[in-house]
Amino acid sequence: MAAHKPSKSTFQSSNQETKLCASCGRIFGYQKRWEKTWESVRYCSKGCRQDKFEKRDANLEESILNLLNSKQQPIDPSLLEATFDAESFKNLRERIRRAARRLVAQGKIDILQKGRVVDASSAKGPIELRLK
Ligand SMILES: [Zn+2]
Repeated sequence: MAAHKPSKSTFQSSNQETKLCASCGRIFGYQKRWEKTWESVRYCSKGCRQDKFEKRDANLEESILNLLNSKQQPIDPSLLEATFDAESFKNLRERIRRAARRLVAQGKIDILQKGRVVDASSAKGPIELRLK
């Protein structure tokens, strides 16, 4: 797996070479196969292209912000799972993480592991969310 730079600097130096995936919220790099289409590429992978950003994903972002505003402390994103219908919302846990990554890219929140800010694109395992 490729090494990731800290998300902040990667995002700020975002240029022709990197983009933010509109679905999973990860930073991804230019690949030769996108030579002719790079300008219109919005998703990092086929999976993300099929699993498009939906209106309710925007609702997830809003719910995360609302919860963070009401708690005023780092939260475990699984708290949100109870507030959505997991049956009708496939891969709810992953979609919450995706929403969190997009919020990081928007500069609204931090993703933490063991109390430290981590790179949103590569963090694995349990995470906590905190308002910036
Ligand atoms: Zn993606």
